[in-house]
Amino acid sequence: MATNRHARKSARILNEAVEIPASDQGSGSDDEEEEGSLTVEAPASDDDEDEDDEEGEAWETESFFRDALGDGSAPVVFEPHEDAFSVEEAADFRALLRRVGEQRFLDQTVRNNAVKAKKLITAFGIRPPEFMEGADDTAYYAFLQIGIARELVKRNKLPQYNTLKDVAKLLHQSKNIIVLTGAGISTSLGIPDFRSKGTGLYSRLASLGLSDPQEVFDLGVFNDDPTIFYSVAKDILPTTDKFSPTHAFIELLQHKGKLLTQYTQNIDNLETRAGIRPDKLIQCHGSFATASCVKCKRRVPGETIFPDLRAGKVARCDACIKTVAEAKKAAGKKRKRGKSGDTWRKKRYSEDSSAEEEEFEIREAGVMKPDITFFGEMLPDTFYKRLLELDRDKCDLLICIGTSLKVAPVSEIIGLLPPDVPQIYISKTPVTHVEFDIDFLGSCDDVVVELCRLVGWELKHEMIPEVLKLETVLAEGFKSRYICTRREPKESS
Ligand SMILES: [Zn+2]
Repeated sequence: MATNRHARKSARILNEAVEIPASDQGSGSDDEEEEGSLTVEAPASDDDEDEDDEEGEAWETESFFRDALGDGSAPVVFEPHEDAFSVEEAADFRALLRRVGEQRFLDQTVRNNAVKAKKLITAFGIRPPEFMEGADDTAYYAFLQIGIARELVKRNKLPQYNTLKDVAKLLHQSKNIIVLTGAGISTSLGIPDFRSKGTGLYSRLASLGLSDPQEVFDLGVFNDDPTIFYSVAKDILPTTDKFSPTHAFIELLQHKGKLLTQYTQNIDNLETRAGIRPDKLIQCHGSFATASCVKCKRRVPGETIFPDLRAGKVARCDACIKTVAEAKKAAGKKRKRGKSGDTWRKKRYSEDSSAEEEEFEIREAGVMKPDITFFGEMLPDTFYKRLLELDRDKCDLLICIGTSLKVAPVSEIIGLLPPDVPQIYISKTPVTHVEFDIDFLGSCDDVVVELCRLVGWELKHEMIPEVLKLETVLAEGFKSRYICTRREPKESS
């Protein structure tokens, strides 16, 4: 079991949507949420909850990984006898990665067999562990993934941006802002962050016998047994058309002609509801707005399958059902060659055309899958095209809102933008693996109101209280990290 899961995790590198590990630069993280740190067992860094791994085994793996990966801070020096890239070659590979992004990098290296993963990881300062000697090259993909993820979040804070005044100035001046969003911008609407623990979805998954909640979004699992996804889909199906003040803030940026692109990880499609134009929006993980047949690829509006999703029933493709029925009709004709085609037709509509037969037609038809991106599935190509060929050179400010930046490719944007582009972070919890220029920790809905107040913009939204007093204080030991808390108006009447 565990082996299979690992194999699948390793296989993910061949695909697009992957979760990256926290690379744990700097401070020893004691944040509970940073469980994907490099010293734990799961190299592909999901929330590792299965306790049934033999303790000893887990311990051994842990120490092996620690030996191989180091802590990412000190450069690994390879001995001349080791099969490793030279310092210059390694630098070239890392530069290539930053130039073309992870997917194209993999295309040009391990995917076309130009270089072995075992050697390529040395370009990222990772030494192939001895115990893996003789293993298939794909076994090293998990390491490569970690190395790439670590590399792409490396960025040094720009020292000139620290104060609230700096933020106001940035918002004023910037004309091409990239906004990167995650689940945090929708949680105030009651949409659960299904990646976080303690949500209903998680416990439901446990009762389905899934050790890793992400298996629900694993294409292999979906193809094997779509009922798993369909049994929980109603919990992640958008249930509201409302959008949050944060959505409204992003629309305000668009209205002011300052929004270059919003890259969102969310699949709730609320950006569209808020008025973000299609040409300004990249839904990195797709959305429920459309659904496609896994067999014939026919695409339909998402609403078409909502009734089935809500009922927990696997939706089948109408076009396929028709095709299967027609194929059977043709086969029937063949069999009855010589007789008139009408005989079959009559028969088809006669009492004998049993429910069983129809049932077969439906079962043979392709399953409908919402166009949200599963693990093991290519991301829409528009993501990299847009980022690398259009946005990268234009962007003059990055604002990250409500995402812990653990999931590629969104997490990659940080490292793919020119390092001199200022980056602002807004979320409830800080991230330790990326260094932003200015952090705002608090409710993102409140923070955006405060930002607008700083710049003198009016942000209107029904959820914004008439009087919102936000206390913005510097976090201890930081000069650009602000803790934002609501100060409830105490005086009454
Ligand atoms: Zn179909």
